[in-house]
Amino acid sequence: MSVRIGVLALQGDFAEHGAMLGRLDAEPVEVRQTSDMDGIAGLIIPGGESTTIGKLMERYGFREPIRDLAQSGKPIWGTCAGLILMARDVGRCQPLLNLLDITVERNAFGRQTDSFETDLEIEGISGGPFPAVFIRAPVVRDVGPGVQVLSRLEDGTIVAVRRGRLFGTAFHPELTGDTRLHASFVEMARQA
Ligand code: GLN
Repeated sequence: MSVRIGVLALQGDFAEHGAMLGRLDAEPVEVRQTSDMDGIAGLIIPGGESTTIGKLMERYGFREPIRDLAQSGKPIWGTCAGLILMARDVGRCQPLLNLLDITVERNAFGRQTDSFETDLEIEGISGGPFPAVFIRAPVVRDVGPGVQVLSRLEDGTIVAVRRGRLFGTAFHPELTGDTRLHASFVEMARQA
């Protein structure tokens, strides 16, 4: 049976995540209101504009249901703006879920390298380097105890983290043809 994976669809590139999930044995569910979360086995928080997504999340009352989902052991994965929203601290005042004990810096690459693509080694992902697209991306500056670093850029900058079934990636895995990260998330959701 295919597993239902929610994609928070308030703003950002939720459609691309849905398309990736559709290529796997998963049923993507666009989550626009909290009742859309009924019966999902996991949730993806997409890239976009973290302040906008955060404000809409507050307005539609998503904070507690998403924290409850995490509490119940279901996997949650934030990509780019989604990673920002899962953080504890981003050095400025904006709505956050505080699901991962990490400090994040937004738009960390500045204008010159606004967007770029690079190959990453990611812990737990076999089969060679993963093509990662960074778009006005954040980076993780600090991780608390219990947070595992899954991937770094060559200069050591942290770009993927995990705590239990909670994941954050600074890049956009939904914008390449490589389904390995989505496949491993779906597998985890199936087992959870
Ligand atoms: N720069 C955006 C932010 O700070 C994130 C960009 C993205 O999700 N691609 O919210």
